[in-house]
Amino acid sequence: MTIHSKYKYQCVDCGAIYPAGEVTYLCPSCSAANTDDTPPKGVLKVLYNYDELIEKQKDFNSLRQNGFLDLLPLKNLDSLPNLRVGKTPLYLQKMLHKKSLPFQIFLKDDSQNPTYSFKDRASNLVSAYAKENGIETIVAASTGNAGSSLAGICAAQGQKAIILVPEAAPKAKLTQIVMYGATIVPVQGTYDDAFDLSIQATEEFGWYNRNTAFNPLTIEGKKTVSFELYEQLDYQIPDRIFVPVGDGVIISGVYKGFEDLLQLGIIKTMPCIVAVQSEGSNNLIANIQSDIFTVKPSQTIADSISVDIPRNFYMAVDFLKKYKGETLQVSDAAIIEASTVLSKHTGLFAEPAAATAYAGILHYFKNNKIQPDSKNVVLLTGSGLKDLNAVQSKIQIPKAITPTLDHLKNMVL
Ligand SMILES: [Zn+2]
Repeated sequence: MTIHSKYKYQCVDCGAIYPAGEVTYLCPSCSAANTDDTPPKGVLKVLYNYDELIEKQKDFNSLRQNGFLDLLPLKNLDSLPNLRVGKTPLYLQKMLHKKSLPFQIFLKDDSQNPTYSFKDRASNLVSAYAKENGIETIVAASTGNAGSSLAGICAAQGQKAIILVPEAAPKAKLTQIVMYGATIVPVQGTYDDAFDLSIQATEEFGWYNRNTAFNPLTIEGKKTVSFELYEQLDYQIPDRIFVPVGDGVIISGVYKGFEDLLQLGIIKTMPCIVAVQSEGSNNLIANIQSDIFTVKPSQTIADSISVDIPRNFYMAVDFLKKYKGETLQVSDAAIIEASTVLSKHTGLFAEPAAATAYAGILHYFKNNKIQPDSKNVVLLTGSGLKDLNAVQSKIQIPKAITPTLDHLKNMVL
């Protein structure tokens, strides 16, 4: 692998620093004792030469004008696929239940990525890095979105993608993977089983591995959402950001983007980030305060965040503690309700994982936990079209009528 001097890695657990090119995935010493039934130790964080960037008087605009290349582990932006990844809309929601809101809700619609999910931000960067380093085959384990994302991005780049999915993944996501021409491998068991197999395959066959909380570059791709939020909010940080949480990688990406800006003195404080999990898959929040990690098998409608072992547990918890984040768990019923409210009030149909974050802000609103005039962001990570089954209990499509005005009148008036 080529050595880039503009960044290095730091182990989240032991703090060891590794030059770029010396390691590819986890910290070798911390990961040596990793087991299958606890979150992995040794996840790496990418650090840049912040002092040097400050010396060069890099402000937000000069970074942005150069596509944030100074804060990406790439040699040039031409390695990225010819697709519009990121730069997604941020909508201000003005009304709820026909009443205007005493605070601001901004909806960051990341379903507007090429494969309809936030995961494209990570696949984008991993694929570009592979291209710069002459790697042709990329493997990923996925509950569906990361796999369909990698498949789509690799299709655009002429790379080979091999996707390991739990056999229960939603059909739309599986269909995407096949349509993009990737090799799909359904695996009996859970996401965790698919994850472990993909790591073994990486060791055995040398494929480049995109797995989150294993490949440190996924967080670097995901962090770009924070740069966009800062710009879209007129160079201000929001008061709160509601983020759906499964394995703890997206939330770490959001934190990392703002932490880069903090390191450069561009922002002075961190926004408060609210980690929202489904009650049925709450292994990250449930273990924050405990010394021994215990796993409760996940059972939730929100398949994208249904995770037994949060792979990025240690980094996510570190961020949440360091920057005083908040946590919240919501029920599957609240997630479905939030999905319905969001669709009917905003025209945005989000998948259950994304609706989980919206359920979070609805809960805060109901409990008077949002300050008047505050700016609040909800991260909508994927499209509702990816998992139509999840909302079937709410859907009643009427029987067809004979095409006469009388029948129409009976039905709608
Ligand atoms: Zn370490």
